[in-house]
Amino acid sequence: MSTSSATLPEASNRTFEVPKHPEWPVLSASEKETLKARIKGLLKEQNAVLVAHYYTDGDLQDLAEETGGCVADSLEMARFGTEHDAPTLVVAGVRFMGETAKILNPEKKVLMPDLEATCSLDAGCPADAFTRFCDQHPDRTVVVYANTSAAVKARADWVVTSGIALSIVEHLKNKGEKILWAPDKHLGHYIQSVTGADMLMWDGSCVVHEEFKSVALERVRKLHPDAAVLVHPESPAEVIEQADVVGSTTALIKAVTTMANKEFIVATDEGIFHKMHQLAPGKKLIEAPTAGQGASCESCAHCPWMAMNALQNLAEVLESGRNEVIIDPATSERAVLPIRRMLDFAREYGITMKGKGNA
Ligand code: SF4
Repeated sequence: MSTSSATLPEASNRTFEVPKHPEWPVLSASEKETLKARIKGLLKEQNAVLVAHYYTDGDLQDLAEETGGCVADSLEMARFGTEHDAPTLVVAGVRFMGETAKILNPEKKVLMPDLEATCSLDAGCPADAFTRFCDQHPDRTVVVYANTSAAVKARADWVVTSGIALSIVEHLKNKGEKILWAPDKHLGHYIQSVTGADMLMWDGSCVVHEEFKSVALERVRKLHPDAAVLVHPESPAEVIEQADVVGSTTALIKAVTTMANKEFIVATDEGIFHKMHQLAPGKKLIEAPTAGQGASCESCAHCPWMAMNALQNLAEVLESGRNEVIIDPATSERAVLPIRRMLDFAREYGITMKGKGNA
């Protein structure tokens, strides 16, 4: 098996700040209901639909479903927006999700509660440095994870989600292609370990999943010997090695609802517990241990950028019309190609990404 790895100086020295969790004012039950009613009215008035990610606040997830929107992984969020006839999409998630929705739906207005809500994978893979990396390796097929900017997608041959990455990399490997992978090194190494593909890696990581700790996880497993361990593949290899199920958000939710176990140790953003509790109320969910205070992710197990989405700024954006996602049309036209390539591949090979789960 031929494997490769590389670290660019631009990527190995973090050039972005991980923000503290925003402290949203605590709302009383009646204040919350008033605000939700206001948002419902605004969505209706503006013929807008709310699409929320599983990692966002539970109130936003509930509101999305109560108003005919959806709660999903990033790709299904974009697909939903494409299939829905609402001219305005309000994306509660992080920036690349809003951008993907806009790339797939250029004629629609896409709003986000906070345009500064990024992702460490996106922020750690600037387009100019990434382009130089690609230019240095013209013999490689460029495969990027969905958690990237529109400009990085525009430089790629393929965009993948974690639900389809294994199938696409396997397909490329069987065609004899060598791969340049970005930005998540943990997901990349996991795919490489399964497929044996020749993958040159960008040195990026998720600040949330990277904090799951393998030694501490072993201790928790001993305390809960009957618990199934569910791990998102953005986690380090030593954590993935202990998993009963490795999969993305939709796949991990499915595991909780279908496996016979009564207890689950879950290594992904804690926002997912809201949907898991809804779908499997009798199951006990245990957070996988993180490094806690002092780690590079102060949250731990909750994405600080996802936490920038709240009822308050959602209402504000709907009222003001601010925070529209704008993408340079030339970039968008180029970025849609590798996304469509993935969708076409899924169709051709009968891969239901919703069932497999995506990041
Ligand atoms: S949880 Fe990690 S991968 Fe997901 S948006 Fe936050 S930083 Fe990015």
